[in-house]
Amino acid sequence: MKKKTKKSNGDKLRAKRIWRIRDSIQKLEDIKDRIIAFLKGDAETSDRAWITDAKEVYYNIISAWEMLRAASEGKDKYITTTDAFLANAKSRCAQCSSELGILGRLGNIIDSRLQEIFAECWDTINTELEQLKPEEKLKPPTQRVIKESDTEYHLPCSVCGEIAVSFMLGVSKSSKKENFCCIGIIHGGGLHISTAKKIFAWLEQENIAQIHIHLKKNSIIFEEGIDAYCPKCDKIYCNRHYDTREEWDDGFYDCTYGTCPEGHTNLIHD
Ligand SMILES: [Zn+2]
Ligand SMILES: [Zn+2]
Repeated sequence: MKKKTKKSNGDKLRAKRIWRIRDSIQKLEDIKDRIIAFLKGDAETSDRAWITDAKEVYYNIISAWEMLRAASEGKDKYITTTDAFLANAKSRCAQCSSELGILGRLGNIIDSRLQEIFAECWDTINTELEQLKPEEKLKPPTQRVIKESDTEYHLPCSVCGEIAVSFMLGVSKSSKKENFCCIGIIHGGGLHISTAKKIFAWLEQENIAQIHIHLKKNSIIFEEGIDAYCPKCDKIYCNRHYDTREEWDDGFYDCTYGTCPEGHTNLIHD
């Protein structure tokens, strides 16, 4: 009986903390309105999609917060949805910030305020979310390479075991042609069919470093190599454990950096 009371107290406190995030979100709404007014007042930017970008920062945070509330009420499936909204919000904020950054002194002042409030919202939601995630999720893999079949291999995250990279050879349903592809944490795409044998042989040897080097040298799509791979650690990380960060330039996507749990920062997609 005592245990039950204790738990519900904890839940009440959590619900209160989550409700209070509203104050930070209100500040984000205010800065969103300020950005829109600023962009509308500038003849050059008033007709651009930049206003939508600013709105999306706010709406993704609001959605993340609503999903977090649902998750905290025991609806576990909303944990993943909250994560997705947080990732979208981060991306839109980086884009919005790159746009404000080129709009003179006032643009920069508004941008710093946006960064500050956004970090406050994002960090508090993420902290609550991390506490809701079941602990058993962190299952370091027992293998470096998972062989599904002779034509399908997966590389699990070295921290949590989530599949981060897949190499697959198969026949496309539409073209009836044989396809060899790689799907990573940021992007995926086709690889030259003639390299399949070589890459599968390296996967058999668990020689991920060699595949990484080979892709960097020979592939245009994967010119930064395997996006989930940290060469300094010689390890694979999922999107979350590689702590990926998009860079935007004047509102356009530029590249993505990842920082592994050991603190190594690498350019993983350009
Ligand atoms: Zn992971
Ligand atoms: Zn590393």
